[in-house]
Amino acid sequence: QWIDFGQFLHEVLDRFEIIAQEKNIELNRHISKKPSYVEMDQDKLIQVLDNIISNALKYSAEGANITTTLLHQGNHVRVSIADQGMGIPRESQLKIFDRFYRVDRARARNIGGTGLGLAIAKELVQAHGGDIWVHSEYGEGTTIYFTLPYSTSKGGDM
Ligand code: ATP
Ligand code: MG
Repeated sequence: QWIDFGQFLHEVLDRFEIIAQEKNIELNRHISKKPSYVEMDQDKLIQVLDNIISNALKYSAEGANITTTLLHQGNHVRVSIADQGMGIPRESQLKIFDRFYRVDRARARNIGGTGLGLAIAKELVQAHGGDIWVHSEYGEGTTIYFTLPYSTSKGGDM
């Protein structure tokens, strides 16, 4: 169905507010108000966002911020979720989208997960005609970006 992506992002973030507060993490939102209808399977995009946001929370320290941004690039929306967490070493940055890959077994042992979340997110975003990538500085933070085609009206542009 066609869903306004900005409104949808707010709803997803609202559900994470309590978990974030427990870790004293602020969820900043820079979400464009321009109508941005995406033809999508809502449950699948929830799965994508749940994983990216839970990763950001899981790999951040107490008191950090997470900033979610929605902007437009041509006929795509571009969403980014930026954290100030432990970051990902350069040599691992392409591999995090592989099934079962987790950075550094030692740190992975202390933080739960199977290493499937981002592999599934990549498949789902690509199935919706978008792309997903990472920018990270080890020790400083991680930003996950993804794009999706959008239209300014429900059902596509005239
Ligand atoms: P799952 O999502 O299946 O519960 P997971 O979170 O370990 O497990 P992915 O979400 O696929 O798996 O992420 C793969 C790996 O990428 C993680 O194990 C972690 O090492 C690294 N990673 C992902 N997101 C971040 C982030 N925001 N900051 C630091 N490292 C991250
Ligand atoms: Mg995960």
